[in-house]
Amino acid sequence: MASGNDDKETSFTGEHIILTSHLEQMKTSPVTLNWGEKDARKRGPILGTSQSGAKRNAIGSHSGSYTIYRALSIAAGHYPKDHRPDLENTSPTTPIGPFDTWSGDDSIVSIDPLGANVYEYFKDQITEGLDIRPTIAVTQAHLNIPEIHESIKNGELKPDGDIVKENGEIKVTKVAFEPVWYLPGVAKRLGVEEGELRNILFQETGGMFPELITRQDLKVLLPPIGSTTAYIFGDPKNLANSDVELTCRVHDECNGSDVFGSDICTCRPYLTYGIQKAAEAAQKGQAGLVVYYRKEGRALGEVTKFLVYNARKRQEGGDTPANYFHRTECVAGVQDARFQELMPDILLYFGVKKIHHLHSMSNMKYDAIVNSGIKVVNRLSIPDNLIPADAQVEIQAKKAAGYFSDDEVDESEFAGTQGRELEEKS
Ligand SMILES: [Zn+2]
Repeated sequence: MASGNDDKETSFTGEHIILTSHLEQMKTSPVTLNWGEKDARKRGPILGTSQSGAKRNAIGSHSGSYTIYRALSIAAGHYPKDHRPDLENTSPTTPIGPFDTWSGDDSIVSIDPLGANVYEYFKDQITEGLDIRPTIAVTQAHLNIPEIHESIKNGELKPDGDIVKENGEIKVTKVAFEPVWYLPGVAKRLGVEEGELRNILFQETGGMFPELITRQDLKVLLPPIGSTTAYIFGDPKNLANSDVELTCRVHDECNGSDVFGSDICTCRPYLTYGIQKAAEAAQKGQAGLVVYYRKEGRALGEVTKFLVYNARKRQEGGDTPANYFHRTECVAGVQDARFQELMPDILLYFGVKKIHHLHSMSNMKYDAIVNSGIKVVNRLSIPDNLIPADAQVEIQAKKAAGYFSDDEVDESEFAGTQGRELEEKS
């Protein structure tokens, strides 16, 4: 508990609390950071840990949303506050980049392209004692997915012993990204002034980061939001080679479907179909990439999402495609809060210039990818036979709203499309 005395001491730790809203209390000399600079030494590291003190050059803290759990663990006395990670043997299992897309005025703005190799780029500063943390990690994995086993059983996918093993496992390289936002670049992507973006971020987080207002010189925010994971099928180097065909799915999290198999939407079947097609591409010597963004429920969250499900199913006339987006807007205020403008940064990180087969029906995603300078050759919608029964409402509504589809859109079909009722009658 704060004692409330004038020198801002806390009664339980005896530590001084430095209020970032009171600039005069802060003796700052942030480490130089030139975002978009090609030379890593001139670019400089991101310093976001509390231990970095006056040298911090980022607002917020590492680990995205897990920063709060770390705080709880420290508060409970389980987590040593002064812990420094031992980074021995943690380096990427395969090198990625650097690519032209990592630097320049219109470079990546929502992740740190140098984040996987901080020990390589900033070894001297780390040795001198700066607490520079990786924000990207690259490793290897084998995927074991029931739908893939099913596709092998029915002959759609054939094991090759390398990409797809005889036991049905798929070999991948996986890459985890923590969010690192360069605020001027994020503002530019959204088409707003940086100052306005800072004000709204400050207000809408209940004043969580006063430095958004008081420290206009700090240009990087480590936002407390979910991370992103990329799964690469085949040689990661092929992603940057536009002569090699790339099959790609950019997928936004849907925990209910992706993990638990809920049948009200097409998320898991579209995801596993994307994984299968990415694996097939790798088997042909091409490239496959599936990127998983933690933007649950169109970035509105699961509580909002489940409220919308109820509103859809309880409305007059039941759950129908005609009212699908309207019901979301009634509950959430918008149909979609995802702002796909930051999404292509993951593709730019891998040096992607051309996607030959894009598995997505979303025009927002397509437009964002094309606007980032990446060419898209073919767009592929989910095959009809993979759409779950109760997901017909969603897919019909999306097609009618202009989402990309291989099929002709016939709104007269709406009359025959009705979602399951909330309480099933026995
Ligand atoms: Zn879903």
